[in-house]
Amino acid sequence: MANVLVFIDNPGASLKKSSLELLTLARSLGESTVALNGELSDSAAATFAEYGVAGILRPSAQDLDEFLVAPKAAFLAAAAENTGAGIVLLDNSPEGKEIAARLGVRLSAGVITDVVAVDPDGTAHKSVLAGSYTTACKATTAVSVLTLKANNVTPEPAPAATSPATSTVDVPAVAAAARITAREQKVASGRPDLTDARIVVAGGRGMDGDFGPVEELADALGAAVGASRAATDAGWISHDAQVGQTGKTVSPQLYISAGISGAIQQKAGMQTSKVIVAINKDAESPVFEIADFGIIGDVFDVLPQATAEIKKRKG
Ligand SMILES: Cc1cc2nc3c(=O)[nH]c(=O)nc-3n(C[C@H](O)[C@H](O)[C@H](O)COP(=O)(O)OP(=O)(O)OC[C@H]3O[C@@H](n4cnc5c(N)ncnc54)[C@H](O)[C@@H]3O)c2cc1C
Repeated sequence: MANVLVFIDNPGASLKKSSLELLTLARSLGESTVALNGELSDSAAATFAEYGVAGILRPSAQDLDEFLVAPKAAFLAAAAENTGAGIVLLDNSPEGKEIAARLGVRLSAGVITDVVAVDPDGTAHKSVLAGSYTTACKATTAVSVLTLKANNVTPEPAPAATSPATSTVDVPAVAAAARITAREQKVASGRPDLTDARIVVAGGRGMDGDFGPVEELADALGAAVGASRAATDAGWISHDAQVGQTGKTVSPQLYISAGISGAIQQKAGMQTSKVIVAINKDAESPVFEIADFGIIGDVFDVLPQATAEIKKRKG
């Protein structure tokens, strides 16, 4: 069994579902240690114990967030050497992938991104070509650095909780790291996080610039709002709402697709949703090939009616 290092970045008060997936996967591969950047809250510490983490390593320098990714990679390299890690797991976000690349250089380690599963022997499975194929690959180096796509592992606490010991590792100085000079708080929507949401209502080009009906249905259902790339590229909604091959991967219980044609790159991000409801005025639209329920109609007729009915039933 390998020593597995899991990078958790600024977990805040409670860990994200994608972090729980990393911890669950790590436990299936060997003894897991968390390399933690940021505060360790009581609830995060309790979750680490619940998920069977053997140890927590924190950077001796606490200013990693003053810079872009370089010092985080330096911290992880030091933590991997400290624990003799054979596998390092990170999330598959753009930042996670950039840290993984830098870490790979520092450790002369093979890096595999877009991972959806890992066998006990370290063989990683990747979903490629918009989810049409799954490939298996294994790093031939002493350490493998893997970034895990969200929503591919079911979070599961360990059969018995642990009492992880916390220690620090020195972060080597990083030359010429880009320093962050300003931050701006994103306005909170009050809606659930798109990748973790149980219900997603997504709109496409068929919304013709007006996401109001999508947002109203989402709020009636307590859902997150998603979008096709056509809608985000048009500037109708922010890019972080994009679902698909070059956007987010979601796997909710219910995905409502409104005015989206169902191109392969859109399907790649949502086809594992449990129930898919598609609303489209074109009966030949490819989205109906993967929909569990299809409504052939105009989104501006269907969405407000659905919202009104849901509100009525909820009282
Ligand atoms: C490398 C690459 C990566 C990509 N990554 C992504 C990605 O991550 N996510 C993504 O979504 N796309 C991605 N795309 C783009 C993708 O190929 C499609 O162009 C895009 O998904 C189309 O968006 P759409 O379905 O909203 O628009 P369209 O394909 O134009 O479809 C609009 C649909 O709305 C219907 N419609 C129109 N008006 C109404 C109405 N009033 N009521 C009901 N239905 C209506 C139409 O019948 C049509 O089916 C990528 C493309 C490439 C090449």
